[in-house]
Amino acid sequence: MNVSLEGRTYVVMGVANKRSIAWGIARSLHEAGARLIFTYAAERFEKSVRDLVATLEGQDALFYECDVTDDESIENTFEQIQEDVGTIHGLAHCIAFANKEELKGDYLNTSRDGFLTAHNISSYSLTAVARAVKPLMTEGGGIVTLTYLGGERVVPNYNVMGVAKASLDASVKYLAESLGSSGIRVNAISAGPIRTLSAKGVGDFNTILKDIEERAPLRRPTTQEEVGDTAYFLLSDFSRGVTGEMIHVDSGFHIIGR
Ligand code: NAD
Repeated sequence: MNVSLEGRTYVVMGVANKRSIAWGIARSLHEAGARLIFTYAAERFEKSVRDLVATLEGQDALFYECDVTDDESIENTFEQIQEDVGTIHGLAHCIAFANKEELKGDYLNTSRDGFLTAHNISSYSLTAVARAVKPLMTEGGGIVTLTYLGGERVVPNYNVMGVAKASLDASVKYLAESLGSSGIRVNAISAGPIRTLSAKGVGDFNTILKDIEERAPLRRPTTQEEVGDTAYFLLSDFSRGVTGEMIHVDSGFHIIGR
């Protein structure tokens, strides 16, 4: 079994800055020898992504804009990647968004627009992207997405994003079935709280972080590196028998009942 990723190419979606979980995944895949392709939501992110990637020694990366709310943007991006690179061996989907006003207070007050926006960007995008990348994954491979405990349990203030994550978690299973016969595995990492740009939008995030440090079995916060290395596992041949699975990388917090 070959667990080096030399000679393989992976798409990483969702690097916004050095704190992004996607950046932790990119570093782990880079260290394993992979060639990387980065997609970013809009032109304004391009420079910061390019600057970060320039710090990865010997990485011959490619960069594309891809707004996951726009079907044409997704199609064009993956058509262009196919033209430029040909075969892809895996993809990390690290994308979510909800309006800040929906991430505090009572879930009952969730607006229709807020509900649809969160589901469109945070859940449906995985299905749209999986469909677009399938023709490029001619040798099979893995797709990994990022989810959170708030999709399985009620986490204060996570609100509509929790409902979107539950939808994403179900999508992982349906996509695993859709793509399994093509040799493509689809899995999720349920990450513990990490201070990122997106996390800043969640009301009282500091309390969520403190809770994990005090009550999780490992008594420490989750790191980008821990999530990155688990993504490497899920995108490598080590996990060749695993699909439709959710792995919690959260210092064990999800097993605690009080
Ligand atoms: P982040 O803000 O660094 O990353 C979110 C990314 O989503 C950004 O790069 C942003 O540009 C991208 N995005 C938003 N709208 C988009 C669009 N229309 N098209 C394309 N890209 C778009 O934050 P993060 O915490 O690294 O988030 C990555 C993933 O990890 C998300 O799915 C998030 O829900 C999940 N997650 C985060 C935590 C945490 O505590 N930070 C915990 C569990 C799961």
